Amino acid sequence: MQTNNLGYPRIGSRRELKKACEKYWAGKISESQLLTEAKAIREKNWQLQMEAGISLIPSNDFSLYDQVLDLSLMVGNIPDRYKPLCSANNLSFLPLYFAMARGDAEMDITALEMTKWFDTNYHYLVPEFSKNQSFSLLKNKPLEEFVEAKKLGIQTKPVLLGPVSYLLLGKEKSEDFSRLELLDGLLSVYTELLASLKEAGVTWIQIDEPFLVTDLTTAEKNAFKLAYQKISKVSSSLKIILTTYFGGLGDNLNLVTALPVSALHIDLVRCPEQLKAVLDSINSQMILSLGIVDGRNIWKNNCRKSLELIRCAVEKLGEERVMLAPSCSLLHVPCDLSLEQNTKTLPSEVCQWMAFAREKLTEVSLLSKFASINRPVGHGSELSLLLKENDQLVQSRMVSEMVSDPAVQLRLKEWHGMVNKRNPSFAQRKLLQQARLQLPLFPTTSIGSFPQTATVRGLRASLKKGEISAGEYEKRIEEETFQAVKTQEELGLDVLVHGEFERNDMVEYFGERLKGFAFTQYGWVQSYGSRCVKPPVIYGDVSRPQEMTVKWSVYAQRLTLKPVKGMLTGPVTILQWSFVRDDQPRSETSRQIALAIRDEVLDLESAGIKIIQVDEPALREGLPLRKADQEDYLNWAVEAFRLSTSGVKSDTQIHTHMCYAEFNDIISSIIEMDADVITIETSRSQMDLLQVFKQIKYPNDIGPGVYDIHSPRVPSVEEIVQLLMKAKQVVDYKQLWVNPDCGLKTRGWTEVRAALANMVAAANQMRVLQELYQD
Ligand code: GLN
Ligand code: ZN
Repeated sequence: MQTNNLGYPRIGSRRELKKACEKYWAGKISESQLLTEAKAIREKNWQLQMEAGISLIPSNDFSLYDQVLDLSLMVGNIPDRYKPLCSANNLSFLPLYFAMARGDAEMDITALEMTKWFDTNYHYLVPEFSKNQSFSLLKNKPLEEFVEAKKLGIQTKPVLLGPVSYLLLGKEKSEDFSRLELLDGLLSVYTELLASLKEAGVTWIQIDEPFLVTDLTTAEKNAFKLAYQKISKVSSSLKIILTTYFGGLGDNLNLVTALPVSALHIDLVRCPEQLKAVLDSINSQMILSLGIVDGRNIWKNNCRKSLELIRCAVEKLGEERVMLAPSCSLLHVPCDLSLEQNTKTLPSEVCQWMAFAREKLTEVSLLSKFASINRPVGHGSELSLLLKENDQLVQSRMVSEMVSDPAVQLRLKEWHGMVNKRNPSFAQRKLLQQARLQLPLFPTTSIGSFPQTATVRGLRASLKKGEISAGEYEKRIEEETFQAVKTQEELGLDVLVHGEFERNDMVEYFGERLKGFAFTQYGWVQSYGSRCVKPPVIYGDVSRPQEMTVKWSVYAQRLTLKPVKGMLTGPVTILQWSFVRDDQPRSETSRQIALAIRDEVLDLESAGIKIIQVDEPALREGLPLRKADQEDYLNWAVEAFRLSTSGVKSDTQIHTHMCYAEFNDIISSIIEMDADVITIETSRSQMDLLQVFKQIKYPNDIGPGVYDIHSPRVPSVEEIVQLLMKAKQVVDYKQLWVNPDCGLKTRGWTEVRAALANMVAAANQMRVLQELYQD
């Protein structure tokens, strides 16, 4: 049986790509050094997949920054503001490429907007479309990488994001057209590209259309029909695997199985139920690639379960027409479990239940062998031993005492069905809070973290290596906190933060202090560009043995008369940014975390902290892709937030923060969360995201981010004032807060000081203007 891989992590098992990119940006290595490093990663990945016995090895799954940006460049979709970079640097595309990704401070050019890739924590760069825009094959990266692999003697399967999904992922820059109108022009580039690939000897090509697992309009469905009719005309000898993931085809099934492609890939981890319907509807030639190994989580495959699905497919289609694969690209899991050696943070009992990208490929390969040998598996053979071993692991996890904690389960039962609402209403709370906090109009604040400088990171590294004592570490972190508080006072911010210097990461920090979590050393996953995250592993019932943040908040609060926000990560975000248990519903795990956070909120309040921020930047990304599944999710997500925040007194102010929240479709749930203040990302879209408030009034206070912290660019006072004026058109000025659009930990102090100074100046101007023209 053939095995198929959809994509391999490109950051390198030790984050080589991240390091190389950052050195290149800092001017420490040359362009060719960066490209050499990138090439080495590709080679290594291909070799490794060969060795794992994968039949269809992907190419063009690599990217220096983002695969959607690659495609924009490939089809020549370059917004006008980058044009100076096209001509000035026509020998190299990298300055243009990275300017689109990150903006260019020197030339004062903003980056493309960035947003979540479906329901993952990966971010892509949003293509911009204008009316009557034309496309051309500008950079044939798929061909380059195919040829590169071929030189190594490896026949690869180029991976391409499909034309319809590409358009749907983007945004129109004016309102007088629909981006689907651009399909025809785009298809000419695709057909030209496919012809060139065929010419170079490509046999299989993977075209990803993840939108096929979402609710589609008739126009969108028609676009798919048109696109694949046209694409299939290029050549019958070029075999297309139309690839879907992150859900089931649902009502798009008949559309999909009627498309003229050689093979179809479906996600059987997210939606095993769809197999039967797909088998019934698939045409008599189509090959089916079964996504059976979880590409989104780190647990070992339950081989018996997978074999049932495989047998079902083989019975109907025959072995020749079935391929085995991970459910989606392995981009979303870490590289290599064999690097994990620290049993203190990752107990071997938990580790044995896990598999990363590399191990997952071995699982795919093994499954194909398990499925191919005489059924039932011959006793005593090496394969049957391996299968038995898998049975035992699955079993041991089910009964492990590390996994279940009766006390947690009991507490949860007691909370079941309770209404967790704050009392009294927001309007009354606002008065009480204002009496206590005495804030001016347009209060200024930041989102929490301040620069994690080399010094701060160095301190943590030294502590880990045992070079400094815990006491010394704390003293030094206190100094950083002290400086940050003083700086904020000097800048004139109204609500301060302690700076989060003691935190490695907003989820990891809490996970390390909660029961039920384990940590990897090299379990990095790309979040955007060179930014990687190392999600904790939630393997068991969650509880909070002791206070997690109180000491730091209290220390910072003692340094100033201004309020310092207590800073916590919310239950849904902790859940969403961890690798979670697949043995109980996510909602159950979220409630366990919520209770732990509730304990911390109450401890902060008793310690005299007047404002507590519970960040939920990941709430939106957990939203199921299908409308029909969304309500249930939103209910338990909002419930978890309220469970963690509803215990405080009326004059304790609860903030929340969300980044990259395309929240228009979930606005009513955000209102339901009933945070006193919400800060959100809006600056990259020039406050466009606020349009929703024209229809639905947001009742509580809100701080739409006024500058993009993902770029080193310092916004001017005028620019910030303009954004605030824009915000004021849709939100009452009395509700407006002024803040950056996210935490500042990735920035340097120089730019942070400059940007915050401008931000405070802008807030002051707004206050003056408000006085002058009282509306
Ligand atoms: N409080 C966090 C910080 O400032 C929030 C980060 C986030 O939203 N991703 O770093
Ligand atoms: Zn944020």
